Amino acid sequence: MVDERPRPVPIDVTRPFWDGLAAEEVRLQRCRDCSSWVFYPRPRCSTCLSDALDWHTVSGRGTVYSYTVARQPTHPAFAADVPQLLAIVELDEGVRMTATLVDAAPNDLRVGLPVEPVFDHGHDGMSLLRFRPRKGVPDPLQH
Ligand SMILES: [Zn+2]
Repeated sequence: MVDERPRPVPIDVTRPFWDGLAAEEVRLQRCRDCSSWVFYPRPRCSTCLSDALDWHTVSGRGTVYSYTVARQPTHPAFAADVPQLLAIVELDEGVRMTATLVDAAPNDLRVGLPVEPVFDHGHDGMSLLRFRPRKGVPDPLQH
């Protein structure tokens, strides 16, 4: 069966991010002029418009900022993946990214859940960033 799920297509400005995932690293841009972290990858700082952006490897740790459980596929190619655990993850650096959560059940999810990166290496050479609940970290919302 052909996998018809849409895949990322790196371009020059995003390639360091995708190359990082292939090397099991999360890489973010940071502005040399105002020290802001920048995501998604772009040619200019989203805070001060400087083009002095450098790539840095970060831990990839963060928390769930928001989430949803998609019980209907978001695209026909994802029909086998439901329920999809879709989240906006806020990294420790403050940037937010949309990702799929893995190694979790729908009832495990909550805002503020500590997560860590998982590198999903595809057969096509592209690696995707997923997140899973961090083990051994007390959930601040569980008593
Ligand atoms: Zn800046």
